[in-house]
Amino acid sequence: MTTIIDGKAYAERLRKSIAGDVSRFTQITRGKPGLAVILVGDNPASEIYVRNKVLQTTEAGMQSFDYRLPQHTSQSELISQIEQLNRRSDVHGILVQLPLPSHIDPEAIIDTIDPVKDVDGFHVINAGRLVTGGTAHVPCTPMGCLMLLREHLPELDGKKALVIGRSNIVGKPMATLLVQANCTVTIAHSRTLELADECSRADIVIAAVGRPKYVQGEWIKPGAVVIDVGINRIEEQNGRGRLVGDVDFDSAVRVAGAITPVPGGVGPMTIACLLQNTLNAAQIIAGTKQALHYS
Ligand code: NAD
Repeated sequence: MTTIIDGKAYAERLRKSIAGDVSRFTQITRGKPGLAVILVGDNPASEIYVRNKVLQTTEAGMQSFDYRLPQHTSQSELISQIEQLNRRSDVHGILVQLPLPSHIDPEAIIDTIDPVKDVDGFHVINAGRLVTGGTAHVPCTPMGCLMLLREHLPELDGKKALVIGRSNIVGKPMATLLVQANCTVTIAHSRTLELADECSRADIVIAAVGRPKYVQGEWIKPGAVVIDVGINRIEEQNGRGRLVGDVDFDSAVRVAGAITPVPGGVGPMTIACLLQNTLNAAQIIAGTKQALHYS
């Protein structure tokens, strides 16, 4: 029997527990954790993400500061907006929604965010600390994947993990977290040869490819745990749109020991982990928590 890993239910429990911690934080400090989200332009997918983030931030008892900047905003205007937020004592987390318009360099923008307020975990200080010692804001999606994986497979020591994808947002930090969890990790990418063979040896497959239904059930080792990060909108024969992952769920579910569905798997975990990072940042800034530690 294959277990379908319920990310929606896990994320709901996590958000409830965060809301409890937020309420205790507010009693102690008389202030609320605050998350500022900046959206430049009017990308419809980004607008949906941002709307959900704002909603879930306030539901958790945090303050939400929502900045909608026009598409023609210059890089220096955006930098000066972030610098103002860096100085504000009621803002503990700053998130700049990606992708940015092509005239803005995302690296320059991420570099401007105060690392303690970088709740996406993309700043080089956080990325570097994650690799060297694990005291950092961890990118939300890989953090959520690890939580789901650990719930199903508490003992990760010595497990063979395959991460498909090497982006800074998902693949690389995911591989680092798995190494820290004592897995033996392989990273596959667009130039990897014989991906099916790599898959067939893995006890854990994390798919972050950005290609709909790419990973086939017949590649997967029987009993393996499959975490599908992909979010792809495809059009059905009847012309209606549908979300699918990077794994061909229908064939993989027959072989895997456990698998995350799309939607309802990794997706809901990402915002819940963002709330966790924002709370952590507020606790560090208020001095009620000394440092970040993830293991
Ligand atoms: P990306 O495009 O930055 O990276 C994709 C990676 O896949 C690259 O490193 C590339 O080398 C690799 N790749 C491409 N073709 C390949 C192939 N044929 N074989 C093996 N590897 C191949 O994407 P990303 O930002 O890392 O996101 C990956 C997926 O995860 C996307 O579907 C995205 O929508 C989804 N995503 C979901 C969440 C979430 O909250 N659930 C968050 C971020 C991204």
